[in-house]
Amino acid sequence: MSDPSAAAAERRIEAIKRQIVALGQLRPGTLSQQYNVCGNPTCRCKADPPKKHGPYYQLSYTWRRKSRTHFVREQDLPQIQREVATYERLRALVGEWIDSALEIARLEREKRRDPQGKSSRKPRGSRKTKPRRS
Ligand SMILES: [Zn+2]
Repeated sequence: MSDPSAAAAERRIEAIKRQIVALGQLRPGTLSQQYNVCGNPTCRCKADPPKKHGPYYQLSYTWRRKSRTHFVREQDLPQIQREVATYERLRALVGEWIDSALEIARLEREKRRDPQGKSSRKPRGSRKTKPRRS
């Protein structure tokens, strides 16, 4: 591609693809923690002040229109946190990929409208040059 801006956007996309390939195991979701009380009336969780049971960690997510929540064992927490972060990373990379793809599409549209790139060098008359980004 001759347009240096489009070429830069294509290089960004190639870099994004390489990063996506390198991603490890992932999962969507939000981790939260909660404290519970039990049914034993003499338990520490009924003391004043109460010492509730927990924390319990749970992961909630919605995928393909189904919402799920399940408990996460404390020893699994670091791994689950890594997987959730990897999922967020994937989403961010896909967003950047789409940004770059739209940028390429916009540049190609401008090139078709003005194959020699004349109007971008010499804006005529009343036409104002637009800012590159909105
Ligand atoms: Zn209790």
